[in-house]
Amino acid sequence: MSEAQEQYLETAITNRRFKHADLQPLIQKHADVFQIEKLGESIEGRSISSLDWGNGPTKVMLWSQMHGNESTATMSLFDLFNFLKANGDEYDDLRALLKNQLQIKFIPMINPDGAEAFKRRNALDIDLNRDAISQISPEAQILKNTRDKFEPEFGFNLHDQQIYYNVHNTPKQATISVLAPAYNEATEINDVRKKAMQTIAGMNEVLQQVIPGQVGKYDDEFEPRAFGDNIQKWGTSTILIESGGYTNDPEKQYIRKLNFMIILNALHQIATKGYEQYSTEQYFAIGDNDLQLMDLILNEVLVPVGEKLYPVDLAIRRRDVTAGESYYMTSSVEDLGDMQVYFGIETLDATGLKYTEGKVYETEFENLDALNGEKAIDLLKEGYLAVKVKNATKNDLHGLPILILNTIKEYPSGWMTGATPNFFLTKEDKLKYAVVNGYLIDLDNPKSQEFKQRVL
Ligand SMILES: [Zn+2]
Repeated sequence: MSEAQEQYLETAITNRRFKHADLQPLIQKHADVFQIEKLGESIEGRSISSLDWGNGPTKVMLWSQMHGNESTATMSLFDLFNFLKANGDEYDDLRALLKNQLQIKFIPMINPDGAEAFKRRNALDIDLNRDAISQISPEAQILKNTRDKFEPEFGFNLHDQQIYYNVHNTPKQATISVLAPAYNEATEINDVRKKAMQTIAGMNEVLQQVIPGQVGKYDDEFEPRAFGDNIQKWGTSTILIESGGYTNDPEKQYIRKLNFMIILNALHQIATKGYEQYSTEQYFAIGDNDLQLMDLILNEVLVPVGEKLYPVDLAIRRRDVTAGESYYMTSSVEDLGDMQVYFGIETLDATGLKYTEGKVYETEFENLDALNGEKAIDLLKEGYLAVKVKNATKNDLHGLPILILNTIKEYPSGWMTGATPNFFLTKEDKLKYAVVNGYLIDLDNPKSQEFKQRVL
């Protein structure tokens, strides 16, 4: 199925920050094969539409992006539309099966206002996933009304999770996490929930082949206001898919492919009742989701307090902040001390290395063009962590491995919790590593990496 996704990739979407307006022509181009219906409008007046396909007896509904900045599955749905619409290849039998057995309703981007600002909540600042009962938001009303009218047997609730989720007590990033939400406080299993669990067990089998050990299962504590839990309660077998992180996939294009694969697998299982071969035990055997990942862990850094040096593990996270169509990273020391319960996406044994402050380069540069990656590394090697640039604007984005100052003369630094990790690691007064906005740079052997920075 991996090849099918590449073949039918919706090439108009290439990164996570697409908007409602980008999707409208893509929805319309499918009007020949899909039945398109405008379900209503968001608070700011953006349309929310469904695309229907298939004329079989079993109804399936999939909805994505109720959190505006969780867009991975939306990308996959558009790949899937291209796939379902095509014909004349080796997948014709599969399409015919799905078409004759299923009636599928897709609702991509339930929260277009949130997507516009690339934020979680809607324009009312309500978390739609806590609005299933009160339905204060029009977007929540649309989802609830559509479900009630359609009465699907299966539902797919498509989200993204933080990249810091891992499979409990392993360093493996939870690239995909799953849940068959509970429908009551007692977290009982009825036939509706059981079918969701069985289908997930089948999806997990596919995932373990491509991302072994990187599937997490969410805790099933009942959340009375959430859509997943309530849709399960209302009688639709509901499957939560959460897209997490994957190495060197900041725009989640590989995870987009994984979504395509498992959604298609699930649809096939539903069309053939293939899920019946799986057990709830297989579902419960999936590793638990946990939140133990850090972007960078520096073990045993010597930090100075008074006259003494103390060896501490520093745990650092870098978070992306949306800036127009792109983003930059801000990083901080999340915690320090004994960090053995965490795992670093990147880890350095810093035993014997000492925390050392950097300097600001004395001479001001005219503009950013006067600098490049190589020049920046040379400056780092001389102990400079920052340069002043005259003709740069605060918050302009750049990709240099050094701090660029315009409005401030000093840059933030430190190793305590909440500090911005900008410092050097030295051994016997020799500079070994630079940590620039949470990015680790080996000064003897700098690896190629992408820096998402802004002018300070
Ligand atoms: Zn979400």
